[in-house]
Amino acid sequence: MIDFEDRQQLGRAGLFANVSLESVEHLFEQCRRVNLKRGEHLLEAGAPNNHLYVILDGELRVYLADSSLPEHAVFGDGDCVGEMSLLDGQNASALVLAAKDTRLVAIPHEVLWSMVDCSHGVARHLLAIMAGRMRNDNLALVASQNQSLEFEQAASVDALTGVHNRRWLLETYPRAIGRCDHDGEPLSLLIADIDLFKRFNDLFGHLAGDAVLRSVARKLADGLRAQDLIARYGGEEFLILLPHSGIDEALLIAERLRGLVAAGCGLETGKGVQGVTISCGVAQMVPGELLDDMTSRADAALRRAKENGRDRVETAE
Ligand code: GH3
Ligand code: MG
Ligand code: MG
Repeated sequence: MIDFEDRQQLGRAGLFANVSLESVEHLFEQCRRVNLKRGEHLLEAGAPNNHLYVILDGELRVYLADSSLPEHAVFGDGDCVGEMSLLDGQNASALVLAAKDTRLVAIPHEVLWSMVDCSHGVARHLLAIMAGRMRNDNLALVASQNQSLEFEQAASVDALTGVHNRRWLLETYPRAIGRCDHDGEPLSLLIADIDLFKRFNDLFGHLAGDAVLRSVARKLADGLRAQDLIARYGGEEFLILLPHSGIDEALLIAERLRGLVAAGCGLETGKGVQGVTISCGVAQMVPGELLDDMTSRADAALRRAKENGRDRVETAE
């Protein structure tokens, strides 16, 4: 049973707002008051629920998994919970607990259906409440999809330079190599390494070094064709995959990238513009060759480029 004051308060709840209560008042006899202490559970996901609960005052939180994750929804005075089980007759779909001491009115489902039969107003409010829930669920779905895209992106993109990272490379390059190998298409691998970068950091500071790394990464990425792949392989080293390119084309591309960096990545340091150069090692895939072996050969070529004076491109044996 609920008392007169509860009825007055109930009349102001969303479900009964602007509804002439005479038509449903006799059904209030079959409702009961529920008082929850802060932290108490009202509904458990998967447990049976035969009531719709209207909050007189207090606060309820809805959790889709468990209460260690952020809540899905928060409800306050005049809101209701438990409408899902009302409509489909199934068990509660979420955990609902009291975030404050909370007073509720429990309306048995069959009583609520009688209210719907007696009052168009109640029926309309119930539909509006359901529409609001669906809208809220859709927004939550979109937010969680965006978040998982962000996580995916964070896991595969290098935060400093914005190009892909080594983890992505190790997943993606072998597949691209396997495809070219299978199709009998040529493919080349290029390693680009910034020259004397330790000295640059020592002279101009790590932040200036970071800015150069970003600008070199951008320059290299912009200088590639659509089918080429670039990733930051280590500190100041980039691994570039050139599908459908034999060594002659790869050398032309490497030479172009070297020129672009030499001409366009200098940094204003306060003591004039400090130029930046890269050295490159290039290797063409031998049929059946794996990423590791191709990388070793390109790396040996890179070491030769360093020995031979830097700011230059060398070809693997
Ligand atoms: P070399 O021409 O032979 O390649 O000389 P190097 O100085 O570039 O090569 P070394 O391998 O001796 O040093 C690489 C330097 O790259 C060391 C490190 O300070 C710098 N480095 C690596 N990662 C980063 C980074 O994220 N930011 C900055 N600012 N510097 C980095
Ligand atoms: Mg270097
Ligand atoms: Mg290096």
